[in-house]
Amino acid sequence: MASECSWQRKIETILAQAGNRVDQVTGSISMPLYFSTAYRHEGLGQSTGYDYSRMTEPTRAVLEDVLAQMENGVKAFAVSSGMAAIQLAFSQFKSGDHIIISDDLYGGSFRYFDLLADQYHLRFSKWDGQDYDALDALLADDGQAVWLETPSNPTMKVIDIEKTADHAHQYDAQVLVDNTFYTPLIQQPLNLGADIVVHSATKYLSGHNDILAGVVICKTEETAEVLGKNLITTGPNLGPFDSWLLLRSLKTLPLRLARQEENAQRLVAELTKSPAIEKVLYPGRGGMISVYVQDDVSVDLFLQHLEVISFAESLGGTESLVTVPAVQTHADMSEEERAKTGITANLLRISCGIEDASDLIRDLNQALAAASQPTKELIHD
Ligand SMILES: *Cc1c(COP(=O)(O)O)cnc(C)c1O
Repeated sequence: MASECSWQRKIETILAQAGNRVDQVTGSISMPLYFSTAYRHEGLGQSTGYDYSRMTEPTRAVLEDVLAQMENGVKAFAVSSGMAAIQLAFSQFKSGDHIIISDDLYGGSFRYFDLLADQYHLRFSKWDGQDYDALDALLADDGQAVWLETPSNPTMKVIDIEKTADHAHQYDAQVLVDNTFYTPLIQQPLNLGADIVVHSATKYLSGHNDILAGVVICKTEETAEVLGKNLITTGPNLGPFDSWLLLRSLKTLPLRLARQEENAQRLVAELTKSPAIEKVLYPGRGGMISVYVQDDVSVDLFLQHLEVISFAESLGGTESLVTVPAVQTHADMSEEERAKTGITANLLRISCGIEDASDLIRDLNQALAAASQPTKELIHD
């Protein structure tokens, strides 16, 4: 069903054309949306290629084809959330397997790995993403896989995927990368040696804060076969309408991300100069920034005074959002673990949208000023 082209097109072209030249019957430019769960057969042993939508479904199939091309994989699976994608990627492991994870991850990933450890007896070890002697030691202890996020969430640590894959492959271990923050437009983990890429497509890929979706992309047919079998067995598939929305959203991903990155760079330049900010964390690329506000800034007052940026728990959309990881995304970590990874109460994570940067800067400055004022109350003792 996929459209063909006689040369290797650039990623921007593949995305802009997503779903076009698929429907041979009507020639529709926008991908048709198929709601049917069941498909009629002409007779015994005959099929159009579609039987029942838990197996495969036309809208999702076209989406998956674009997603696989985007990350340069052999096969992609579109599922109902980022967490469902992580679960599908982990469905190949079994009890007793030793998985090495980088130590600064999306909070929900930690929660899921705790569940796998407690109920299914997988073994997890944390790695700081920098010390390769430590990684070798963990791999030598029967390591099956390395799971990482780079840049990390929320402290923006960068891990060298290529070097990590070199080390892991010496021990026959896989490398799985959550590429939600950078997207394939900035970093293509499979090209750097990773074996599986996962996305929360809820974030940059869909980019409009309106669908929950996840993606798993495999480098080899062998892993694709294992995961594909597990997917049709367990059924976390993305529904047709959300598949269609994601397909249409991918068309503008390069434009959105370029603007989000430009806004992030403008904000970093401004926030670095602000006396209300203790430290800015920015890995140099992408639309995500973390900042530590000064001790005398009331985080609550700052959030209440924002007029453009919204205090909400997601990222990657057209609207700028700010998150307080210690009380939102990473609330389930122990206070001690949060302190160790730098997730303190004065850490804010900003997801830059596509607004005009000057409005974002003005909003941050006015809210910081309002939140930095000394308290008016008189202190009696
Ligand atoms: C949001 C997020 C997830 C989880 O995705 P959902 O779509 O919310 O299930 C996983 N990894 C990262 C890096 C995320 O930001």
